[in-house]
Amino acid sequence: MCGITGIFSHKSVAAELYDSIIHLQHRGQDAAGIMTYDDRMHKEKGIGLAKEIFNEENMGLLTGNIGISHNRYPTHGGFSHGEVQPFWTSVPYGIALAHNGNLTNYNELAAEVIKQETRYLNTTSDSEVLLHLFADELHQDIPPQTNEEFFDLLCEAVTKLFRKVKGAYSITSIIIGKGLVVFRDPQGIRPLVKGERPNGKGGKDYIFASENTMFYALGYDPKGTVLPGEIIYVAEDGSVFNKRLVKKEFNPCIFEYVYFARPDATLNDVSVYRARLRMGQNLAIAWKKKQPNKTPDIVIPAPSTANTSALSFANELGIRYSEGLYKNTFIGRTFIMLGQKERKKSVKYKLVPQETEIRDKKVLILDDSIVRGNTSREIVRMLRDFGAREVYFAVACPPVKSPCFYGVDMPTRTELIAGNKTEKEIEKYLDVDALLYQNIDSLVEAVTRKGDHHIDRPCMACLDGKYVCNDVDDAKMDEMETMRENDRNGN
Ligand code: SF4
Repeated sequence: MCGITGIFSHKSVAAELYDSIIHLQHRGQDAAGIMTYDDRMHKEKGIGLAKEIFNEENMGLLTGNIGISHNRYPTHGGFSHGEVQPFWTSVPYGIALAHNGNLTNYNELAAEVIKQETRYLNTTSDSEVLLHLFADELHQDIPPQTNEEFFDLLCEAVTKLFRKVKGAYSITSIIIGKGLVVFRDPQGIRPLVKGERPNGKGGKDYIFASENTMFYALGYDPKGTVLPGEIIYVAEDGSVFNKRLVKKEFNPCIFEYVYFARPDATLNDVSVYRARLRMGQNLAIAWKKKQPNKTPDIVIPAPSTANTSALSFANELGIRYSEGLYKNTFIGRTFIMLGQKERKKSVKYKLVPQETEIRDKKVLILDDSIVRGNTSREIVRMLRDFGAREVYFAVACPPVKSPCFYGVDMPTRTELIAGNKTEKEIEKYLDVDALLYQNIDSLVEAVTRKGDHHIDRPCMACLDGKYVCNDVDDAKMDEMETMRENDRNGN
């Protein structure tokens, strides 16, 4: 999972792109980059958090009113500086590209790119492959002259990409001499929202981003979502062209609502906060049915992505919501950190139980999801250490049984606790007095209940094993898992 932004403005965009990276920092803490464009491209990128990479000096060199940015959270490729986006090529135009998602036919596509004599790959990143394929499709002996002609070429090029490229990809891109281009894969798996603001001269500025979390701070009005299979082109003179190139089922990632997105975001025209409230409510109704004799004294969220669901869960049950686990926000989110060792170490650093809230109480912990199970188990142990009388565990997401190949760095099948154990076995492993998972229908209902969204059926491949692009069978699963292991081990 990554965070991307593209801005077309009447003024310099560097500071706004920096703010966007800060507002999308939860989507990727591994690395970040900004590219801007005036008469030529300017770039700055590095490993770490935005505040560690950018400073007054290097930001001053990022001139131009059009730009893109990227927060990196690696799901494919290595961990070196060279893998940090945006990527850039100079043939046939200067093109820079930021990608959120993951391609499932990387090996075939990389082979195709390498076969062509004019292209070579600097990295093992699927985003670089995507950039070269996009650039190749845009190549013409006689380049288009007008914006309309260029948009026709873009539509043709991206339509060909849609046929060729499998998996998830939301893209922001700048093209020298042309402007800003964004598009989203035909099933809209990864999010991409849009916003506008008046530019004070009778025209408009435009922003496109993985989440609208920075819109208010930057003065943009939300204008909904880039649709699946849609391309939008903002030409250098400010004229805007858009087209939905293909219409397939709209299958946005359900895990964005469960865990990944910031709660104040609205994705695919669905409020993440409202979806999480409904998740908690649905789960509480199920708890009352399944455990009428196990009413907790308090509900404590595993902070902080479960806070919203825990609040509505407690309200529905008529019991007290408690912040009985204090989170040190200066420690990175455990799901994002690399390697089991670091992750284990960080749980105790990150969470501190409050004894006054826990001792002699029947405590229900509500977590957004259980992936490996080690964090949940440690939380339960902490509560028992701090004197909880009984510990119950409720999970806003159904069991995660399969890896994600569409841009979320989930573990392999062997590491996923629900891929290998029954719910009863997980209850025992966690050492809880009762465990309840949300069921899939209740989760889908929570996300799609209300609003003017166009979602047909969210992607839930990690929960139900149905990969929405029909691109993952057993052989592909083995190939992708091996590739991911190699990436992790630096092979
Ligand atoms: Fe999201 Fe899971 Fe689908 Fe990946 S497999 S895109 S995490 S719902």
